[in-house]
Amino acid sequence: MKIVAIVTDIEGTTSSSGFAHNVLYPYALKQIGNFIREHHEERDVMRVLVRIGDRAGIPLHNTEGFVKLLQQWIREDRDDVDLKLLQGMVWERAYKQGLFQSHVYADVPEVLQQWQNRECNLYTFSSASVKAQQLYFRFSDFGDMRLLFSGYFDTSMGAKRDVQTYANIAQAIALDPEAILFISDDKDELDAAEAAGMNTTWVIRSQDTSLDPERVRQKTSHPVVTSFEQIELA
Ligand SMILES: [Mg+2]
Repeated sequence: MKIVAIVTDIEGTTSSSGFAHNVLYPYALKQIGNFIREHHEERDVMRVLVRIGDRAGIPLHNTEGFVKLLQQWIREDRDDVDLKLLQGMVWERAYKQGLFQSHVYADVPEVLQQWQNRECNLYTFSSASVKAQQLYFRFSDFGDMRLLFSGYFDTSMGAKRDVQTYANIAQAIALDPEAILFISDDKDELDAAEAAGMNTTWVIRSQDTSLDPERVRQKTSHPVVTSFEQIELA
């Protein structure tokens, strides 16, 4: 079946996982305190704090209690929707101030453009929130890349290593899984997508992993590439 949609992972695939780990998360950890102190009375922020306060038993006026809890959650890399919302707000301000741009591998933009020109619809799938993904590609090293993508998926579709998640994504795109290519650097994610019937490609980025592409190639059924330029749409 012809591939008419491509779903790609971000960290370790389109982009260096080092950027998130070395830039985004340390920045959020450093700035979340000042952000909460300065903005806790704004409606969008307060709405999130009310939810977190209800869950954690922190009264709304206890700003420092929230700061401490949120810093702890960031250190634990907690998978929490409300934390992700606040982190997204912190990052949005930093991106808009031009403090950093998100990393995208140099081979990626042109290949995505070629696929789009061939009327392939492009999607991302990441554990980052949809909002954070949109920010990521709005403020990339290669400028605003959002026009390349038809949509963004996050873990509201399911866990990244669950087969059902990929069936859910195929359903959301309204396509047979066999018409979709999933690209990732993670074997378990690729296995799950394959089990759901999708085509797969394993991206191995030497900046992100010590895996040897040749050795991986001998051991896996997934096509293995080291750059998007090597990906062939069957
Ligand atoms: Mg990844």
